Amino acid sequence: MVSRGTTQQSSAPYNRRIVLDVIRRQGRVSRREIVELVSLSPQTVANITNDLQTIGLIVARRVKGAKSRGQPPIAFELNPNAGSSIGISLEPGRVSAGLVNLVGDILERREVDIDTHDQRHVLASVLTLVRELRRRPAAARQVWGVGVALPGPLVKTDISFIGPTTLEGWSDVAVLDELRDATRLQVFYSVDSVAAALGETLFGVARTLDNFFYMHFGVGLGGTLVVNRSAYRGANGNATEIGHIPAVPGGKACYCGNSGCLERYLSLQSLAEALGVSEAPDRDALIVAQLERNDDPALQAWCREAAERLRDAVCVIENMLDPMTIVIGGSAPKLLVERLVSLAQPLHHSVRGGVAATAPRILLSERQEDSSILGAAVLPIYDLLSPRFEVLQQDRRAEANVAGLLGQRGTGRAGRL
Ligand SMILES: [Zn+2]
Repeated sequence: MVSRGTTQQSSAPYNRRIVLDVIRRQGRVSRREIVELVSLSPQTVANITNDLQTIGLIVARRVKGAKSRGQPPIAFELNPNAGSSIGISLEPGRVSAGLVNLVGDILERREVDIDTHDQRHVLASVLTLVRELRRRPAAARQVWGVGVALPGPLVKTDISFIGPTTLEGWSDVAVLDELRDATRLQVFYSVDSVAAALGETLFGVARTLDNFFYMHFGVGLGGTLVVNRSAYRGANGNATEIGHIPAVPGGKACYCGNSGCLERYLSLQSLAEALGVSEAPDRDALIVAQLERNDDPALQAWCREAAERLRDAVCVIENMLDPMTIVIGGSAPKLLVERLVSLAQPLHHSVRGGVAATAPRILLSERQEDSSILGAAVLPIYDLLSPRFEVLQQDRRAEANVAGLLGQRGTGRAGRL
């Protein structure tokens, strides 16, 4: 996608985002190349790169070895040390946290297994992790904010906060307002699949893709459709909750009250039940050990069935949405996802089969287990790094540290993306 700047005076924040986005996507780029890529005047680009350097978001480096007379040319790149943000991933029974810099490196990582039924308990645990991460040397310069990724749906519906693949026992996410007050940091939150999909857009395998479908394979199963680098939300913010799509007529009973839901066949919870370890405190380690041995008939039977469900799901998603690719990420071990994708071959015929494509039909996240943390950490900086007009036109976001710089105003609460 080519980004186009605009010459209207009121669009200054947008133009800054456009230039910052080009620098991020190119990795390293000269001022002349930026001018060509964004259709802004050389003077405007010079002003913006000067501003961004002054603020510390980008750094200029002389390009060694370039053949030119006089001074070697200067290239700009994101300053990884400009600041960091804290990503929190809440899953049933586990809180994971990471300190992530502006180029998507996870500098510090923490994880605790806790009972997530009690919001007070979760808040106390998250506060401890945030304090620990803020004390790390890497957090010295600036912490942009805290992003929290949680299993959806987060809006009150028939199927919210019900069953072991959700934050069972919760009724809302008001506790995140308390997190904001206690840390005095901006707090943003989102459904885990949305956060992880945005993380893939900024720093992952979907960096160059305008649209894709993201499948979040963790304790449960979620999905997000990304269009023009924005997550499609639907009428109430609950779009593409694919885990509860009926997949098997008369199939396994689901917590949502229906039967045969996709998540009952394609999730870590489903696998843990099949292996008889769903209540074990170290169930993830047990699952990985089983996968490595691969000699348990129950595991092999589960994988064969899960792969069939995946094969069908890929066909439905492709025929319905025609995405450039389907990215699979989430806390499921990469070994498991690779096995299922392999067993799902050959894929069904669909509108994505047989066409010349820029991406394969399925891509695996390179961050797999870390994709939720990275996605959560992206939430406070997503609008900084991604030029989206609708964000500039809507005052629906919490105030961020970058507010003055990029033209946002705040609402004083935890902000949902
Ligand atoms: Zn269901």
